[in-house]
Amino acid sequence: MQITLFENIVNFIKEKFPSKDFIPLHEPIFRGNERQYVNETIDSTFVSSVGSFVSQFEEMMCKITGSKYAVAIVNGTSALHMALLLSNVKKGDEVLTQSLTFIATCNAVSYLGASPIFIDVDIDSLGMSPKSLLNYLKNNAEIRKDGYCYNTLSGKRIKACVPMHTFGLPCRIDELLEICQEWNIKLIEDSAESIGSYYKEKHTGSFGEIGVFSFNGNKTITCGGGGALITNNRDLAIKAKHLTTQAKLPHQWAFIHDEIGYNYRMPNLNAALACAQLEQLFEFVENKRGLAKEYSNFFSSINLKYIDEIDQAKANYWLNAILFRNIEERDDFLKFANNNGVMSRPAWELMHKLPMFENSLRADLSNSEWLSDRLVNIPSSVR
Ligand SMILES: *Cc1c(COP(=O)(O)O)cnc(C)c1O
Repeated sequence: MQITLFENIVNFIKEKFPSKDFIPLHEPIFRGNERQYVNETIDSTFVSSVGSFVSQFEEMMCKITGSKYAVAIVNGTSALHMALLLSNVKKGDEVLTQSLTFIATCNAVSYLGASPIFIDVDIDSLGMSPKSLLNYLKNNAEIRKDGYCYNTLSGKRIKACVPMHTFGLPCRIDELLEICQEWNIKLIEDSAESIGSYYKEKHTGSFGEIGVFSFNGNKTITCGGGGALITNNRDLAIKAKHLTTQAKLPHQWAFIHDEIGYNYRMPNLNAALACAQLEQLFEFVENKRGLAKEYSNFFSSINLKYIDEIDQAKANYWLNAILFRNIEERDDFLKFANNNGVMSRPAWELMHKLPMFENSLRADLSNSEWLSDRLVNIPSSVR
């Protein structure tokens, strides 16, 4: 009986991607000015740290996100590291985030010697739950005389909160922002997956003090490897540019650096690819939303839960997600689909189950665990 259900799903997906023997989860597509711009960098010899595509890319990111400043960074993980560093996160601090996320979010927290605290997600948005966040803070945190938020259990300062817009689906970011403001915690958005996604008509990543994006090969927009940070705070933007370029002071010939910096700049070669891809962002998102609509109708017709954007959200539907009834059914489907030419995969192993974070502080994570047992991502490429 199950096999008919699985066959149904696999056949439907194959209809959507007819020319493929094996349908990947998400593959890049280059049908704009990619070759032309990359060739321009080669012809100009400016493939590395100098070149006009980096600033062009930053301007495009500002336009798309409505943010005042954007800084190109070598990848999304480094951009997260930089965002936390700029938020003054240090050794011994704590950072609120999700257990249902990609490892990069927690790795960036760890690079600074800080510890993650895992907050639950909402079942419908797959992003950090405002209710879970507020509940955790009310029961485990206090604002002390210095005006800052401390964890009453560990005595450590809770400096930042990093929610993630899972699979490009916007979370309830305005409510999270309100809670963070009330508790004097910096909000950094991990919008690595949500370029082109909006909540209440504002681009994801532009609600918090800093938003972070990734342009890795599997994302909606790719430049091979790349990232960006956006902010409305001029000082932060200047500091980000400085720190990501080895903290070198501008000078015609001298190499003088005024603090410990990082080699986190995006090469011009990658920026060229990024510019060509960003020109097609809205076309890609419309294309992906078309597929999402077809998936949504199909899964409701066979009575399987498809994860739709929440009210007032406009998702890029980076990866489409469906829910099976239990972990056995999920695993049977994963086996069937992957053996039959349709790539599908479960959500990431929850962060608090990994050896590095198994002793980390956490809220009640029932929703994360429930979703993790049932969720499957299915092919979602631009067609
Ligand atoms: C892809 C991704 C990152 C990291 O981006 P890279 O460019 O691969 O370093 C960070 N967070 C999330 C949620 C991601 O999906």
